[in-house]
Amino acid sequence: GMARKPIVGGNWKCNPATASSLDELVSNFDGCAQYLDKCDVYVCPSNLHVALVKDSFKPGIKVAPQNCNFTGCGAYTGEMSVDQIKDMGMSTVLIGHSERRGEFGLPTPKESNELMATKLQYILDQGLSCVFCIGEPLPIREKGVDAVLAECANQLEDIVPILKSLEDKSRVVIAYEPVWAIGTGVAATPEQAQETHKGIRDWIAKNVDQTTADEIRIQYGGSANAKNAPELSAFPDIDGFLVGGASLKPEIADIVAAIS
Ligand code: PEP
Repeated sequence: GMARKPIVGGNWKCNPATASSLDELVSNFDGCAQYLDKCDVYVCPSNLHVALVKDSFKPGIKVAPQNCNFTGCGAYTGEMSVDQIKDMGMSTVLIGHSERRGEFGLPTPKESNELMATKLQYILDQGLSCVFCIGEPLPIREKGVDAVLAECANQLEDIVPILKSLEDKSRVVIAYEPVWAIGTGVAATPEQAQETHKGIRDWIAKNVDQTTADEIRIQYGGSANAKNAPELSAFPDIDGFLVGGASLKPEIADIVAAIS
């Protein structure tokens, strides 16, 4: 396949509790800057904190909000538009995290596959890049890899035409995040992750096209840390990580180092 530049993202979720902790969290990323020629790095602060930290990171480390709405400014209380994100100098956004899709049963809006496709089209039309999260809950993983890949296909089906017409395939990054691995301390094994990433890539080759399959980056997310990152990084279809808990700690730099 073609050379894909690795990409590592930090998802701070709804953290930290105090804005006074932001300086420390930002400085944890300082050690990532030396790897930027080998690995793209982005950070997703909470919506409230984005404006406070967006100019604080070392140059080249991107700030990407954790969500955006599906259409633009207007009567969308509690939402953010791409126009606003762009205006503030940011060029990428994360969508479809399982905590927003409602996979955890949290009191957040349920975001459907159809809505995700609408959001992705909107984001790309506005000229931004996007990290698109997918992944299966535990009952599906327990049925085996075929069921997992069927669920991933289900979550990707609506964006097939979007990926087909996308010229620069680096503008969409897929984050494969098995729901059972997120925040649990139980990461997928490297073999499981590779098998799933390869399956997703093969599905894209078949349903989108070979170029997209070769060029699109697939990050692994779910209890990735400095300890498991080197082994996961060694597999050819794992193009980086989306990191939650460990992105609040200095070890984020070790994770970036592992794949650089
Ligand atoms: C995430 O929030 O996307 C994530 C993968 O979290 P964690 O690394 O804490 O499992």
